[in-house]
Amino acid sequence: MSATRAFHIVTLGCSKNRVDSDGMAALLRQRGLVPAPRPDDADVVIVNTCGFLGAARAESVGVIEELLDKRQEGQRLIAAGCMPALGNYREEIPAGVDHILTTREWYRIGDVVAELFGEEPAPESAGCEGMLTTFTRSDAGPSAYVKIADGCDHNCAFCTIPSIKGRQVSKPPVHVLQEIVDLVSRGTKEVVLVAQDTIRYGADLGMKHGLPQLLESIVEGVPDLRWLRMLYIYPSPLTLRMVDVMAEHEPLLHYLDMPLQHADREVLRRMNRPSDPAMTRRLIDYARAKLPDLVMRTTFIVGYPGETDAQFRTLLDFVEQEEFDHVGVFTYSAEPGTRAATLDNPVPPEVAEERRAAIMEVQQRISLKKNRALIGQRQEVLIEAVGEMEDELGNIEPVSVGRARRHAPEVDGLVFVPGALPVGELVELTIEEAMPYDLWAAPPEGMARQSRPRRDVEAATRRRLAAAARRRGGIRPGRRGRGRPVPMATPAGT
Ligand code: SF4
Repeated sequence: MSATRAFHIVTLGCSKNRVDSDGMAALLRQRGLVPAPRPDDADVVIVNTCGFLGAARAESVGVIEELLDKRQEGQRLIAAGCMPALGNYREEIPAGVDHILTTREWYRIGDVVAELFGEEPAPESAGCEGMLTTFTRSDAGPSAYVKIADGCDHNCAFCTIPSIKGRQVSKPPVHVLQEIVDLVSRGTKEVVLVAQDTIRYGADLGMKHGLPQLLESIVEGVPDLRWLRMLYIYPSPLTLRMVDVMAEHEPLLHYLDMPLQHADREVLRRMNRPSDPAMTRRLIDYARAKLPDLVMRTTFIVGYPGETDAQFRTLLDFVEQEEFDHVGVFTYSAEPGTRAATLDNPVPPEVAEERRAAIMEVQQRISLKKNRALIGQRQEVLIEAVGEMEDELGNIEPVSVGRARRHAPEVDGLVFVPGALPVGELVELTIEEAMPYDLWAAPPEGMARQSRPRRDVEAATRRRLAAAARRRGGIRPGRRGRGRPVPMATPAGT
């Protein structure tokens, strides 16, 4: 294949998709292609689609149509990812794309591109293990997702993932380690382990406590890794051993992302989820007792078919009582082919939206209270980007954007700090102002501000800047500090 061919990948959906996009980019580079910053500059454009919800599929279709409309002469367009993996979703992909590649086949991208340009397919690259192919990132940044498994063995009634991805397949521990060693050797400070159900890692490899074992081998094998975080922990007793390991090893962040989806026994039963609220509370209590500084994130679905006012009230009371640090709430979306889509008693969309807003209102209050309690405290912050802020008086000063240990990438809050701090570094900062989601820290000692706006003007500017960052993902650092726009359309399951 010609060394001058260029590719561009548009990634939609969740962190797992982004890892696959990184893998496709690595395989294409191995074959001599170079990345193009814009679709217009590329010989081949790949859209890594999301198929999790109707809204995400509509977004994927819109992106493909736009690219087809302005396609350059001779340019090839490939639709990849979750959407093509299910027959009825595959049919929604606009006519005119040159190739369709499912999420289970992303590692074939090199051959597919070669074929599209009439060239001989090269032999598969070494280490090619299907969906879980190990690869070297070409542009490792301060933070990186590492996918340790794909597919799901559960059967939640509302979810299409098992049909799209199939049963869980885990990446062998040695390959996970190899990826992390490589990332850390090139400066990555935070690794975020992801899967559909991260706590079940290794079950298909015959491991009883696969995730705790993996965590211990990462801690031992990569002593220079500073932050290790896991996302998407399904509520199960397997969590207990993982919490024990979290308490024992410094790089493991005391952060638990456990999507619970609901708190009412009957709704959970209809969702085909763990339906014993007492068991869930025991898990939470155990984790909080073992890790007093634990930060908890969860997600809920409201407006599930048949959800009554009383059942919603149970959920709202649960949110008030448990005081989670971060909560995501999604209104139910009926996905064709799922069991939930056949259930009676749909909840009107406006009622579902009211319920979502009610939880968010309660959570904002909790979140603000928790953030205010951090004022005056020292927090370790990973700096991911530097931008500028201008106040009403026209003063311009640089502002750095990062995350504390309590913030997972993309879904939680940010820490803003006046001044240009080195991107990719971990710095100790004192929190001086709190908003419902974001925090402001004082610049490190010895670092003078270029300008010092009036305090009231500065506060207004900060609120505006944080709101703008949140709305448009503007100053919000792209994953790994690359400033790449990353549409977030869906919850990521589990
Ligand atoms: S919601 Fe999560 S755990 Fe449930 S089936 Fe979907 S991917 Fe699996």
